[in-house]
Amino acid sequence: MPQLNFHPAGRHFLQIPGPSPVPDRILRAISLPTIDHRGPEFGALGRKVLTGIQAIFQTRHPVVIYPASGTGAWEAALANTLSPGDSVLMYETGHFASLWKAMAERLGLQPEFVALPGTDAETGLPHSWRNGVQAELIEQRLRKDSAQRIKAVCVVHNETSTGVTSDIAAVRRAIDAAGHPALLIVDTISGLASADYRHDEWGVDVTVSGSQKGLMLPPGISFNALSPKALEASRSAKLPKSFWAWDEVVAMNKTGYWPYTPNTNLLYGLAEAIEMLFDEGLPQVFARHRRLAEACRAAVQAWGLPVQCADPAVHSPVLTGVVTPVGVDADAVRRVIYERFNMSLGTGLGKLKGRMFRIGHLGDCNDLTLAATLSGCEMGLKIAGVPLAGSGVAAALDHLQRTSQPAARLPG
Ligand code: PLP
Repeated sequence: MPQLNFHPAGRHFLQIPGPSPVPDRILRAISLPTIDHRGPEFGALGRKVLTGIQAIFQTRHPVVIYPASGTGAWEAALANTLSPGDSVLMYETGHFASLWKAMAERLGLQPEFVALPGTDAETGLPHSWRNGVQAELIEQRLRKDSAQRIKAVCVVHNETSTGVTSDIAAVRRAIDAAGHPALLIVDTISGLASADYRHDEWGVDVTVSGSQKGLMLPPGISFNALSPKALEASRSAKLPKSFWAWDEVVAMNKTGYWPYTPNTNLLYGLAEAIEMLFDEGLPQVFARHRRLAEACRAAVQAWGLPVQCADPAVHSPVLTGVVTPVGVDADAVRRVIYERFNMSLGTGLGKLKGRMFRIGHLGDCNDLTLAATLSGCEMGLKIAGVPLAGSGVAAALDHLQRTSQPAARLPG
């Protein structure tokens, strides 16, 4: 049993792709006294976060905030829009897409997976776990569904198990090109507030997200952003739901309150997170993550290791998957890095177990956070005996230095 109160010197590097490190400003906001969730002060907080979160999702429509992890919001999205036995088209991008499909089965839906077939010669891993959603496969399948039995298309925007970010606008265009009325339901649990995401512009009906990634909060709240079409579908959807039902929450949220006890202290944190994101500016936040991801990939390429995402057009700005050579257990490398350098990296999930590790560069991350993270990775890879082609740290520092800019607003 590890000693939970053991504190090595310095700070722990939590470089998994969520939960991401929580900035002090947010921790302080969360530490304020809990207030009466039916009192006047709470209504102001509720209205503030409900309005602010719409801007983060880039939507004018309601966003439901649940006191639950992302998995709860996945269930809410399906339970509010679908009926028992409904066919759902889901796209296999990796482990989280697979978990969501398993949930759809357990809820009594009939999910069908589409995926890029075959395996990749370089790594022996499935193509679909190294590439983004191929919108044309969705279009082809919908065109064959002349009876319009498929009620929803579900895709993961940022597949956290692989580090691939799919083109959601292309999926919308594919659904429209097929002339199909299916709802578009998107998981951006790990993408929101680090990768650009536009609920309204991309024509998404339900967007699912969570607090513990780009929003820099601890785990514990999650979201459904809605469209008018999704709200309409929820009026006739028959899957059982009570806690997850949108209608009462959306109605009460108009005054800033919830029908049950909401997660007051995490909502303080959410208000602070939204303010921080607005202060920096969403375009700047997205650009910061794109640049950090470029530097991270430069490091992996200099090590001579494959990046899990095989298609440069859809590299994730949130995390980078590093494939270890055949015969090298990626979890053994992670263990060395954890034990010697006090840093947590993401494990390989599902089909990728032992074949890769994941470096998170989401949320409250800057150049020197990434530089230190890559230093820990490089030392750990060497200690674990992985042959490296060159210094990834040097390549990343070179990229960061060449592309660095003064902070937009420094004091003084
Ligand atoms: N979907 C994606 C893309 C995720 O990254 C995660 C968690 O990492 C989930 C769903 C599940 O969310 P949670 O673990 O908060 O329930």
